[in-house]
Amino acid sequence: MIKVLVVGGGAREHAICSAVCKSEDSQLYTVMHNRNPGIIRLSKDYRISKETDVEKVVEFALDKGIDLAIIGPEAPLEKGLTDELMKRGIKVCSPTRDSARIETDKEWMRKMMSKYKIPGQVRNRAFDDPRSAEEFIRSLNGNVAVKPIGLTGGKGVKVAGDHLRSVEDAVNYAREVIEKRIGGKARVLIEEKLEGEEFTLQAFSDGKTIFPMPAVQDHKRLLPSDEGPNTGGMGSYSSEDGILPFMSRSDYEEGVHILQRVVESLRKEGHPFIGVIYGQFMLTRDGAKIVEINARFGDPEAMNVLPLLKGDYVDICFSMVEGNLTKRKIGFERKATVCKYVVPEGYGVKSMVDQPIDVDEKSIEDEGAILFYASVNERDGKIYTTSSRSLAVVGIGEDIEDAERICERGLKHVKGEHIFIRHDIGKRELIEKRIEHMRRLRGSI
Ligand code: AMP
Repeated sequence: MIKVLVVGGGAREHAICSAVCKSEDSQLYTVMHNRNPGIIRLSKDYRISKETDVEKVVEFALDKGIDLAIIGPEAPLEKGLTDELMKRGIKVCSPTRDSARIETDKEWMRKMMSKYKIPGQVRNRAFDDPRSAEEFIRSLNGNVAVKPIGLTGGKGVKVAGDHLRSVEDAVNYAREVIEKRIGGKARVLIEEKLEGEEFTLQAFSDGKTIFPMPAVQDHKRLLPSDEGPNTGGMGSYSSEDGILPFMSRSDYEEGVHILQRVVESLRKEGHPFIGVIYGQFMLTRDGAKIVEINARFGDPEAMNVLPLLKGDYVDICFSMVEGNLTKRKIGFERKATVCKYVVPEGYGVKSMVDQPIDVDEKSIEDEGAILFYASVNERDGKIYTTSSRSLAVVGIGEDIEDAERICERGLKHVKGEHIFIRHDIGKRELIEKRIEHMRRLRGSI
């Protein structure tokens, strides 16, 4: 029996735990900050603890005799949880603190891209002086993305035209990032604003080679038609052919090539990347550009790809740790997926916490949809919201339309007075808009 520890209590981790549990010889142990009912049910044992409390997680892992650990969220990676577990002889299918820097230090990521001449780079510079930042912003006519250097849970980036209405807005936000040390440093990264359609490409990495997964499109904005503030992600979809309707096979291959180059560069730097590497790309008229690199599965994107995985996930994790990924048989079902998050009313601004949600698990399953719990708590058999996303429903179908219908049928069995869902995700109208947008930018697909 292989004892597997999964760290994290979100829907991404629920999806990871489900994949682990499909593996016959494994037994699941978990550590999470909330009481995720889906994860608790799958676990042989669990501990409620902050995922960044390295000592507590290590103690639990040693106590339970864990063979393999998988870390879901980015914050414990930054704290060096992987390194500490490895020191105690535990295998970890997640990057060390140094290799996770590709996500936790955006300036370093951009420098690496330049040093190794990785394609997909954008014009960028980092500043600790607001006046120099202003000069650079003005030199780009205010067409910029203003980014904290460190982690902000996907909510710290502001982009001209979307959240920044003028050059002055951009300058003021850059100053605020520096002065308030948003993202942990008195420093700000300014990038040229990219125009296009975003896609996510995730890949397994054994430090040398990657195995790419189907492309996914996330929806970061809170409101329908991509309005409102940025969130952790409101939902996502993938297509049965593994690429998205607005992109071509060669766009996908370009993304794969870029990720492969990132992994090779990290190895050359002496920080081989073990685990899932995540590329957020903007498909522009000049091809795929890197928006950011993450050092773990995306949330929601994990829920699109993991249910389609053919082959034993725990085996795949071992092959990443052991550096022999190419020897494993890996594949994904030719199915489309649509994932929609249920979030508390006010999410993204001020969430209504501790509100009950009525979830009819049996009916969701009967509709053929999959339920993944996120940041909720279970008390006396009832589910309550926290300030973060509550749960996600995934539909899997022959094509996106089919998957979307199944997802919506599942969502009918989630009820609450104070919940919110972006129903437009995966709908034909929104996808047509994306195709049209790309067509306009490029002339044709
Ligand atoms: P990040 O946390 O870096 O993924 O940024 C959050 C979101 O901001 C991304 O998903 C994009 O929608 C947007 N964004 C980030 N960088 C850029 C950029 N250089 N140009 C345009 N949009 C961007």
